[in-house]
Amino acid sequence: MRLKVNHFGEAGPVFPTILALMILTMFGVISMMLYTFEVLDQSQKENLYQRIAIAFEVEHQRQQDLLQEYTFWDEAHEKQIQNLDRDWVELNTGLYLHESYGIGMALAASGDHQPALAVIDGDYAEIDVQQLLNNGLRNLLENESFSAGDKSNSVSYLQYNGQVFMVGIDYFHDEASEIRRDDNSYMMIAKLIDQDFIDSLAELYKLPALALLENDVHADDLTHLVLADPAGQQLLQVGWEHTQLSDYLAKIIVFLVLITLILALLVRLIFVSHEKQRDQFQQKLQELANTDYLTGVHNRRSFMAQANIEFARANRSNHNPSLLLIDLDHFKKVNDGFGHKAGDMVLVYVAKVIQDNLRDFDIFARFGGEEFVILLPETTEDQAYMVAERLRELVENLTVTTDDNSVVNCTISIGLSHRRGDENLETMLARADEALYMAKSAGRNRCDKAA
Ligand code: GH3
Ligand code: MG
Ligand code: MG
Repeated sequence: MRLKVNHFGEAGPVFPTILALMILTMFGVISMMLYTFEVLDQSQKENLYQRIAIAFEVEHQRQQDLLQEYTFWDEAHEKQIQNLDRDWVELNTGLYLHESYGIGMALAASGDHQPALAVIDGDYAEIDVQQLLNNGLRNLLENESFSAGDKSNSVSYLQYNGQVFMVGIDYFHDEASEIRRDDNSYMMIAKLIDQDFIDSLAELYKLPALALLENDVHADDLTHLVLADPAGQQLLQVGWEHTQLSDYLAKIIVFLVLITLILALLVRLIFVSHEKQRDQFQQKLQELANTDYLTGVHNRRSFMAQANIEFARANRSNHNPSLLLIDLDHFKKVNDGFGHKAGDMVLVYVAKVIQDNLRDFDIFARFGGEEFVILLPETTEDQAYMVAERLRELVENLTVTTDDNSVVNCTISIGLSHRRGDENLETMLARADEALYMAKSAGRNRCDKAA
């Protein structure tokens, strides 16, 4: 019977279950992160888009405020509409606005939209106002709320000569009464939208780097701002770099997988260590089950098992073992004379002296009571007899001093059988027992060979 002690439960099916749970948890965490990242990325995207859109609005507002200084200034109306004064314009609007405020285009026009003198990128030019107006600018100009200074709906752009401008436009007003002039004259200033402009915008409003994009790129994404003319026609796009949390997802997943792997390894290690402990414990129990509690040598069960293994080996090698059956002589007298405890002590000493004088592969066991047995592998009858004699003499010369200082001596009788052919253990034991009986009969303290 093999003892099977299940000390820590079945480790086998538990580990895969734990591993599966860990992998499931990992996928759960990844899905959760995916969702969270998605939500955060979206909100960050919207946020950035809003900031950039607001920056453009504020910029436009500032431009509109600048424009008002002229449209509510009588002298500006007089010098640009009533009596065109180039020197005045150069000093007070056109070139001045260009150099001081980066205004790319400035013009004033009469109510009947006659071609007007304008400044474009620092050069004076005759501009076809009609053409500009037809570009949707008319809507802007004639939009009451816009011209009245309410720019809530208002960032607007126009294209002229292949360039895109942010426009501000308003009618001239009487400076004192702040009433719009009857002649419907008006003024427009426009800022060139180029890389320099959006660079300065990015710096001023602490935005990520902005870039002008081709019109056909990502037209409907939150990651690009569309600049359209007053008629709603897309003129330009402004894009920006945006780092998203999900950009880090691959790294995070690799990290999580690694952590899961390491955890799985750790759990596996713990299981292996538990299994090892259990095996050691089991082995210990096995040893205990095979050991005689008093003398520490093999017990009868263990002897039978070991001997059968040796018999199988002998069958293959054709070298047969010999068997010695040993019985202490007149042991009852030891018990009676010195006590059972002293008897135990004698058994221990006898076992020890025999064990110490055997080869490692001899199988020595307490067979029961004061009887011992030895299987001597690959040993002839004569060799076995010599061993038996040596052991007999050793025991004869052994002196055991008991706890109460009594000195005990004892002898042993030995029955010897050598295995014949493929004889089994039982008959060999029976023959050794007969030889032992002969030795007892012949006076004890001797070894007899089986017939
Ligand atoms: P002989 O074998 O020489 O014929 O005489 P004997 O006195 O040894 O005879 P027997 O086999 O009848 O008695 C064996 C005694 O051994 C009986 C028992 O009390 C004693 N004995 C058996 N096992 C133990 C043990 O574990 N400890 C002690 N102290 N005595 C034991
Ligand atoms: Mg006996
Ligand atoms: Mg005896």
